[in-house]
Amino acid sequence: MAMAFVDLAAQQARLQPRLDAAIQRVLAHGRYVQGPEVAELEQRLAERVGVAHCIACGSGTSALQLAQMGLGIGPSAEVIVPGFGFVASAESVALCGAEPIYAEIEPSSLLLDPQALEALITPRTRAIMPVSLFGQCADMHAINDIAQRHGLTVIEDAAQSFGARHHDRPSCSLSRVACTSFFPSKPLGCYGDGGALFTDDDELAEQLRRLINHGDAGRYQHLQLGMNSRLDTLQAAILLVKLDAFDDEVARRQTVAERYDALLAELPLDLPQRLPGNISVHAQYTLQLEGRDNVAAQLREAGIPTAIHYPRPLYRQPAVANPDCHLPNCEAACTRVLSLPMHPYLERTQQVQVAEALQQALAY
Ligand SMILES: *Cc1c(COP(=O)(O)O)cnc(C)c1O
Repeated sequence: MAMAFVDLAAQQARLQPRLDAAIQRVLAHGRYVQGPEVAELEQRLAERVGVAHCIACGSGTSALQLAQMGLGIGPSAEVIVPGFGFVASAESVALCGAEPIYAEIEPSSLLLDPQALEALITPRTRAIMPVSLFGQCADMHAINDIAQRHGLTVIEDAAQSFGARHHDRPSCSLSRVACTSFFPSKPLGCYGDGGALFTDDDELAEQLRRLINHGDAGRYQHLQLGMNSRLDTLQAAILLVKLDAFDDEVARRQTVAERYDALLAELPLDLPQRLPGNISVHAQYTLQLEGRDNVAAQLREAGIPTAIHYPRPLYRQPAVANPDCHLPNCEAACTRVLSLPMHPYLERTQQVQVAEALQQALAY
C-alpha cells in the first residue's frame, strides 16, 4: 500500500466500534447542536489543560477570530503574528478589521523570535499571537514578559500543539486566551471542522459563549454581533472517543520523531529543533535543507509523500499581504522546509524507506 502523509484510516480502524457507538448515541438523542457531548468534551479538555474554561467552536480559524472579538480587537488595532506559518493566524486578525504586523522567526525552531517583538510595538498594538508551530510552543515566558511590560494580551495559536507542554505546563494554558483546531489532520482531529478556546478569565469566557452563538445572551437577546460557530455534537462525540487514545498517540508520535532523528542524523540537512523546556506533539516532522524542491520531486518519484509547510511568507499571501515587509528568516524557511510523513501509526520499516529515499535524493 502507498505510504500516507497522515494515516487517519489506521486510527479509525483501531477506534471503529467505539466511534460507531458514540455516533449512534448522538443520532438517538438527536441534540445535534450544543448536545451533552459538547459540554462533556469542554469539561474534559479544560481539566486536561488546567484552565477554568474551554469553549468549543466551529474551527480553529473561528476560535482565533472569536478570541479577538472577545477582546474587542477591531479596526485600528494591530496584532503581531509571525511572518511564517499558516494563513489563518494573520487572516483572523484581518477578519476582525485589525492589521496583522509580521514578526521575524528564530531560524532553527521556526517559531516567533521574542527578540523581534519590541521593535514592532506601537501605540496601536493590542495583542501578540505566537503560533505553536509543528507541535511545539514558542518561548512563551519571554513573550508573556514583553506583553506584560507593554500592557498587551497574548493569544496562543495552539492549532498544532494541543497536548504539548512548555516548561511543564500544557499548551493552551500559557496565555490569556488560547485557540486550538480539531481539523482532521491535527494531532487531536475530528471528522470535519472544529476548534476550541481556552481561558481562565470568567468574563471573557462568558463573552465567548455569547459570541459563538450570534451574540445571544439568552432567549434571543442579541446584545452584540457574534458568529454561528458551534462545535457539532457529532464531532464532540467523535473527539471524546479520540481523546481516550490521545496520550498513546502522542507517545507514538514521539517515537516516530525519535526514529526519524536517529535515521536522518548523518544526512546533510537540518533536523527539526525543539526548544528547551518543550515537549512537542509532533504535528509535523519538518526538515530544512538546500535544494528542497529537487529532493521533494525525487521523493515523490520514490512514492514518498511530502508537504511544504509553508511555501510563502504570510506577508506575500495576497489576502494578507504587506509589500513593505522583508523578514529574511521567514523567507529562507519558505525555500528550505520539507515535511515528511508523520502520524502515530507510521512504522519503522516505512521510516527506513523514507530515510533511504532521502539519502539517495541528497546524493543525486
Ligand atoms: C490549522 C491551523 C489553523 C486553523 O484551524 P482550522 O480549524 O483549520 O480553521 C490556525 N492556525 C494554525 C497554525 C493552523 O495550523
